[in-house]
Amino acid sequence: MANAGPSVHKACAACKHHRRKCDQNCALAKYFPAEKSDDYENVYHLFGIQNTLKILKSVDEDERDAAIESLIMEARMRLEYPVHGHFSVARKLSIEIEKAEKELEIVRQKIHICKGADNRAGPSTRGGQPDQL
Ligand SMILES: [Zn+2]
Repeated sequence: MANAGPSVHKACAACKHHRRKCDQNCALAKYFPAEKSDDYENVYHLFGIQNTLKILKSVDEDERDAAIESLIMEARMRLEYPVHGHFSVARKLSIEIEKAEKELEIVRQKIHICKGADNRAGPSTRGGQPDQL
């Protein structure tokens, strides 16, 4: 039997947290459904509800999803790395990139050396057939 009753608007994570009625005009319902209560808690503790709403209003509507994603990510990073937040991760990745670039340069130098040694040895040591008879 199908549910023929009126659709029930489930309170978003923000309204649930603040124990208020969530209606159609709730600015945060779209971004923090009830299932995302952990994300809301993190964002709330880091930015507060007024700043979150202020940030939301300050960006164009088509950029609001990205803005909220950014706030959620920053809040998660701040929870994991309380001192430097996402800067810790960015710095760590930057060091890894630097290390990988140095390693790549060493490999390129080795390839260059191997190619040089191969050219000096001449084509007969390659084991291939001569080009002309
Ligand atoms: Zn709400």
